[in-house]
Amino acid sequence: QLRLRSALALVTGAGSGIGRAVSVRLAREGATVAACDLDRAAACETVWLLGGQGSEEVAPGGTHAAFQADVSEAGSVRRLLEQVQACFSRPPSVVVSCAGITRDEVLLRMSEDDWDKVIAVNLKGIFLVTQAAAQALVSSGCHGSIINISSIVGKVGNMGQTNYAASKAGVIGLTQTAARELGRHGIRCNSVLPGFITTPMTQKVPQKVLDKVIGIIPMGHMGDPEDVADVVAFLASEDSGYITGASVEVTGMRPSW
Ligand code: NAD
Repeated sequence: QLRLRSALALVTGAGSGIGRAVSVRLAREGATVAACDLDRAAACETVWLLGGQGSEEVAPGGTHAAFQADVSEAGSVRRLLEQVQACFSRPPSVVVSCAGITRDEVLLRMSEDDWDKVIAVNLKGIFLVTQAAAQALVSSGCHGSIINISSIVGKVGNMGQTNYAASKAGVIGLTQTAARELGRHGIRCNSVLPGFITTPMTQKVPQKVLDKVIGIIPMGHMGDPEDVADVVAFLASEDSGYITGASVEVTGMRPSW
C-alpha cells in the first residue's frame, strides 16, 4: 500500500546521506519529491536516482524535481517555497528538514565562526523552512506533516559539539512549539533524533572514535540512513495521524556515555 500517494514532499539536504534515503523512501511510498540541497548537482543526482534509469520501482508515477537553496538564508528559503509551489501548483504537504552541518571543536577552542555557522544552518535553517512551509500550508488551507531532523546529541551532548548539540536541542524545542501553534491548522510537527548513522557526515569521524561509539550503542552497530527514513515515512503518513510534538529517537537505544 502506498501511504503517500497524493503527497508532495519537500526534503532539504536531499543530496546526501539521510536526506537522500528519505527522498527514496518517500518516493517508494508514492510521494512526489522536491529534493533540495545547497549542492545543486547532488540534489539532481538524488532526483535521477528516484526517476532515472533502472529505478522505476522507486518512483511509482511521480515526477520529481531538484531545487538548489541555502536553508540558512531567508531569501533563498522564500524562493525555494515559491519555486516548489510554481512547479507543482500546490504547497508541499510533507516537509523534511535534513540539511545540517558539523564544525567540531572543544568548547575551550571553539571559534565564534564555527558556532555561528552551525547555528545558522542547523537551527535558523529549520526555523526558516518550518515557518515558510507552515505559512504556505495555512494560507492555502492544506494539512501537512513537518519533520525536523534533530539528533540524540541535542539531548545528551557530545564532546567537541557544543555548537551542534545546542542547535539540535533548539530544533526539539522549536518543533514542539510549532506543533502547539499549528495543530489547529491540521499541521503536525515532529522531530527525529538519530544516533550514529553511516553517512558522509560520520565518515569524517576517525575510525578510533567510531569504534568507541559502537562499543557503547546497546544494539552494537551504527544505524543506516534507511533506519531514519523508515521513521520519517511513518511520521509523514496518516499512520501517525495523532502524533505531533514528538521527538522520536532512532539510536539503537541511547548510548550510556
Ligand atoms: P550529510 O553531510 O551526508 O548530508 C547533509 C546534506 O545537507 C548535504 O547534502 C549538504 O550539502 C546539505 N546542506 C548543508 N548545508 C546546507 C544548507 N545551508 N542548505 C541546504 N543544504 C545544506 O549528513 P547526514 O548525516 O545525512 O545528516 C543529515 C541530517 O541528520 C543533519 O541534520 C544531521 O545533523 C542529522 N544527523 C545525522 C547523524 C549521523 O550520524 N549521520 C546523526 C544525527 C543527526
